[in-house]
Amino acid sequence: MPSIKDVYQSGDWKAEKHVPVIKAPDSIKAGQVVKMIVKVGEEIAHPNTTEHHICWISVYFHPEAEKFPMEIGKFDFSAHGASAKGPNTSTIATEPCVEVSFKTEKPGVILATSYCNIHGLWENSKNLKVE
Ligand code: FE
Repeated sequence: MPSIKDVYQSGDWKAEKHVPVIKAPDSIKAGQVVKMIVKVGEEIAHPNTTEHHICWISVYFHPEAEKFPMEIGKFDFSAHGASAKGPNTSTIATEPCVEVSFKTEKPGVILATSYCNIHGLWENSKNLKVE
C-alpha cells in the first residue's frame, strides 16, 4: 500500500537545496532549553518566487524508546512576491528560516520536514543526547 513515507525525500543539505537544516546542540543537560534554527537553503539558496517557494517547515521531537513523536512547531511561509499588480511584483518574500526552542529531559531525535510547492516533501533529522 502506498505510504506518505514513500514520498518524503532527503539527502545531504550541502548538496540538495531542499533538505531542511537543523542547527541544534549535539548534547544538553536534562531539562535544558534546546534552541534550534531550522531552515531551507543554508548552503544553496532555494528560489523564493510566486511560482516556486518553500511553503512550510514542521519540527518534531521523538524521545528515545517512545512510540510517538511530539510536534514542536509548524511554520507557514506566506509571502512569495505576489501583489495586486501580479506575480513577483511585491519584492516581499518570507524566508524559510525559523528559530524554535523546546525543553526535554529525554534524549531522542529532532525531525524536520519541509514542503516546496513544486518539488514536494523533504525531511532531515538530528540526534540529541542528554547528559
Ligand atoms: Fe523547489
